[in-house]
Amino acid sequence: MGWLKIWRRRRVLARHRIDDAAWNAVVASLPFLRGLSAEELRRLRELALLFLAEKQFTGAHGFALDAAMRLSIAVQACLPVLALGLDRYGDWSEIVVHAGDFKVQISETDDHGVVHEFDDERAGESWPRGPVVLSWDAAVHAPDMNVVIHEFAHKLDMANGEADGMPPLHSGMDRRVWVAAFRSAYEGFCDAVDRDKATWLDPYAAEAPAEFFAVISEAFFESPNETRRRYPDVYEQLKLYYRQDPANRLPS
Ligand SMILES: [Zn+2]
Repeated sequence: MGWLKIWRRRRVLARHRIDDAAWNAVVASLPFLRGLSAEELRRLRELALLFLAEKQFTGAHGFALDAAMRLSIAVQACLPVLALGLDRYGDWSEIVVHAGDFKVQISETDDHGVVHEFDDERAGESWPRGPVVLSWDAAVHAPDMNVVIHEFAHKLDMANGEADGMPPLHSGMDRRVWVAAFRSAYEGFCDAVDRDKATWLDPYAAEAPAEFFAVISEAFFESPNETRRRYPDVYEQLKLYYRQDPANRLPS
C-alpha cells in the first residue's frame, strides 16, 4: 500500500466516524454479526468507514439510495475481509444499486457459430476491475442468500484473473488441499442437482466452480455451523482463507 493511501486512510479515520445510532441499527439488522468480539466490531466499523469513503455508490435509474442502505452494503462487504483488509478487493470504486432484480443482455455464440441473444434477470453482478452491481430488494428480502457477500466473494476470486472458484491463497495454504476439498464438494453437489435432489445450498451453485465458491462463502458467514457439518473440508479451507472461524463465534 502506497504512502498516499495510508495517509488518506488515516485522515478519513481521524476526521470521520459512523454515527452510533446508525451503527447500532445496522449491526442489529444483520444477525450473522452476532458473536463478533468488541475488537472485531471496532475493526469492522473502521473498514466500513473507509469503504464508504473510497467507493462510489450510484442508484440505478434514479433509485434513491440512502445512508442506511450504503452502510448496510458496506458492512456486509467488509465482513469477508475483516481479517484480510480492503485492498484484497482490488482497485475499483463503483457500486451500482438497483431497486430490484435487473435485466442484462446476454450474447452467446454456440459451437455452430450461432449467436444467441437473450435477457437474463440478475440479483447481482461483478466485473473484474469494474463495478459491483446489486439488487437492493434481493439484499434485503432474499432469505436464503446474501447477494452482497456473494458478489464480493467473486471480487476476491477475481484477484488472480478469471473467477474460477479459487482466490489467491495465502502462503502456508496448500493449493492441492483446496482443490481436493472444493472439487469433491462441487462434484457431489452437481450430482445431487442433476438428479433433482433437494439441496441445502442454492442449486445455482452448480453453475460453475466460481458460483459454488461464492454461494458457499455466503453460507460460511451466514450459517457456519451447518456449513462446517455438511462440508467440513471446504469449511476448513474457507477458515484458512478468510482467517475467520464463524462457527466458533455463532451459536448453532
Ligand atoms: Zn455469482
